Amino acid sequence: MDLKVQVLLFITPLLVGLGIILTFQSINLSKSNLIFCDVGQGDGILITSGSKQAVVDGGPGEKILECLSSNMPFWDRDLELVIMTHPQRDHMEGLLAVLERYRVKTIVVTGVGNNTGLYKAWEEAVGKEKAQMHIAQAGERFAISRGLSLDVLWPSFAKVTQWQAEPPSDLNETSIVMRLEWGRPSTSSGSARCAYLTGDLPKEHLEPLIDRSCEILKVSHHGSKTGTSKAVLDLAQPKAAIIQVGKNSFGHPHKEVVDLLISKGIKILRNDTDGTIRIGK
Ligand SMILES: [Zn+2]
Repeated sequence: MDLKVQVLLFITPLLVGLGIILTFQSINLSKSNLIFCDVGQGDGILITSGSKQAVVDGGPGEKILECLSSNMPFWDRDLELVIMTHPQRDHMEGLLAVLERYRVKTIVVTGVGNNTGLYKAWEEAVGKEKAQMHIAQAGERFAISRGLSLDVLWPSFAKVTQWQAEPPSDLNETSIVMRLEWGRPSTSSGSARCAYLTGDLPKEHLEPLIDRSCEILKVSHHGSKTGTSKAVLDLAQPKAAIIQVGKNSFGHPHKEVVDLLISKGIKILRNDTDGTIRIGK
């Protein structure tokens, strides 16, 4: 067979295959997605909007990497934003692997650390990454793209200042809480879609932050009874509650919380039974 024909026979399927992949990826790139990754017992969230991505927490271990690679274009190694809600293993560990594999533009933290080996490793990883560092404060807005933003609801400036003098005994209290808004409507009568991302914040701090209804509530603290109250659900009026939970010895999610969600007719989605949870455009 002529060499030219052989080359053509070899290259054509490759080009067709590449075309199919690029078409598929560009279809996905036009969408916004909120993805609650199945990272086991911990939180790990990927938010995508067009070609931009934000990661909120990384779960324990490195399972977050599978979630990122299967929901991002294979050529994209840039993350616009990484937010660590608070420095505990089930939120922080996977982010070390994320920093290793991806170039991160901005890293947002609470400004509270601890004395664990894992936290020291985190500080080293952050030191190597040439990202912009930022301590979150209520009132700030991170715009991921034109149609998708994250509003910081907690901690307040007063709390951040107070913790720098004296860190709280319960690190869950330092969890960054945000409201994600996306899909702004073209008419003023419509409203954007939204989701509360609550970290592990205790319910007494969470209640005053909720000032409007949102269709999605990431249930605080893996469904612990310390994170969710009737007041939280009455204020947020979610249609769906996401519980980021895996095999654990804490009894998460607590029966009281599950019963409360059921009594209000809220759809429950949980990573241990539903795997990775994807909420589209
Ligand atoms: Zn946690």
